[in-house]
Amino acid sequence: MTAVALKSLWSATAPAGPECAALKDSKSAQVAVIGAGYTGLSAALHLAENGHDVVVLESAAIGECASGLNGGQVIPGVKHDPDVLETLFGPALGARLIDTVASGPDLVFALIERHAIACDATRTGWIQPATSEAALATQAQRVEQWRRRGAAIEMLARERVAQLTGSQRYCGGLFDHRGGTVQPLAYVRGLARAALRAGVRIYERSAALGITGSAGSFEVRTAAGSVRAGQVIVATNAYTGSFTPHLRRTVVRVPSFQVATAPIPAPLRAQILPGGQSASDTWRLLRYFRVDASGRLVMGTRGTFAAAPTLYTVRHHYRAVEEIYPQLRGIGFEYHWGGFVAMTPDHLPHLHQLAPGMLAGLGYNGRGVAMATMMGRILAQWAHGAAPGDLGFPVTPVRPVPLHVFSGLGVRATIQYLRLADALGRSGG
Ligand SMILES: Cc1cc2nc3c(=O)[nH]c(=O)nc-3n(C[C@H](O)[C@H](O)[C@H](O)COP(=O)(O)OP(=O)(O)OC[C@H]3O[C@@H](n4cnc5c(N)ncnc54)[C@H](O)[C@@H]3O)c2cc1C
Repeated sequence: MTAVALKSLWSATAPAGPECAALKDSKSAQVAVIGAGYTGLSAALHLAENGHDVVVLESAAIGECASGLNGGQVIPGVKHDPDVLETLFGPALGARLIDTVASGPDLVFALIERHAIACDATRTGWIQPATSEAALATQAQRVEQWRRRGAAIEMLARERVAQLTGSQRYCGGLFDHRGGTVQPLAYVRGLARAALRAGVRIYERSAALGITGSAGSFEVRTAAGSVRAGQVIVATNAYTGSFTPHLRRTVVRVPSFQVATAPIPAPLRAQILPGGQSASDTWRLLRYFRVDASGRLVMGTRGTFAAAPTLYTVRHHYRAVEEIYPQLRGIGFEYHWGGFVAMTPDHLPHLHQLAPGMLAGLGYNGRGVAMATMMGRILAQWAHGAAPGDLGFPVTPVRPVPLHVFSGLGVRATIQYLRLADALGRSGG
């Protein structure tokens, strides 16, 4: 099968990022952050703004992994609805956790404004189009639960979803006015620039290879240097590797892949997401889509584990676009790219203490633009001295996913199963 070269729309259209040298000697800092995505850079920025001396180590380039590859959909909340969170964590922590996950988009858009980050940010809302009557019933409960807590969210009738999305494919949906879109790579590069201005030192091409010591005096080793730091924050999410093997086993990596069309011609452009919302539907293998600043439709769904996808995989995504938008049949596709999402068995992000003074946050289940930015701030608050009970997010023990070594195989089987279940659902089975 022919392999297709990856080409990301975001790399082609984002302003250049800051160029940071690799670490070549020994440095010291109060806090060493491992990973320069949203989690790590938000943590570093918030720590520096509170007077901490911070070094960030990044094995690739700033935002080269999920933070620079994603769909740029800023979505409030986590997979669980608020009542479920309150049942799981009790009325006090549950209520604080709901506030935390609800205010992720507020934090993202406030940072963009405060640091003048040019990333095509729009706060026009997020639509969740429903693919079945059962999904609509679940959404009605979701909307009721959020509205009880004062959130700007509403149900949409079939015709309204068709008007707002330009697709006749859905039977209704919900509209969460708290959401929006960003150019994801421009956003993460902007966070890096803000962190640098606040005094953070960032080293690219500097993978953390090993760590020794304990709270107050860790030493993080790279190929050509080392950082001595009192505390360490691990912010490597789906790209967590052998540096923290136990942490790697707490998440399952699931591939997600996107395609972008050529700019949509004017008459059609006025039909497709004319209000600029982002959308992710309720299929088990959901399709997420939005239009970028140059009028291209960007759509993603579950992807492939292969380093270079085949033409077959890419065509599967073209068909997904045509299924939602038959009016786009024949339009050219100009970009194809993918990355890995970190899923957790309980569908919740996780906040851990790996050892005294060594903290980690990860597992955003495909909703990390807002949540990873928020997790970075929480990690910064913890490293700054807040008590775990005051973080507004539960600290949980590190629990490896059972039989994790088989998870690659398991994920492939699960994706096939969900694809089949969605196909049966579509044909009324
Ligand atoms: C294709 C795709 C589409 C998505 N769409 C959306 C969306 O529309 N909306 C949404 O909310 N979320 C979405 N997500 C999820 C979101 O992108 C992630 O949750 C978020 O970017 C996670 O940020 P992070 O900083 O924790 O991780 P990352 O951005 O992955 O950063 C981790 C960094 O750690 C570095 N690293 C790893 N090991 C080391 C080491 N040993 N030393 C130094 N550095 C190391 C990596 O190189 C990487 O840069 C999507 C994800 C993907 C892949």
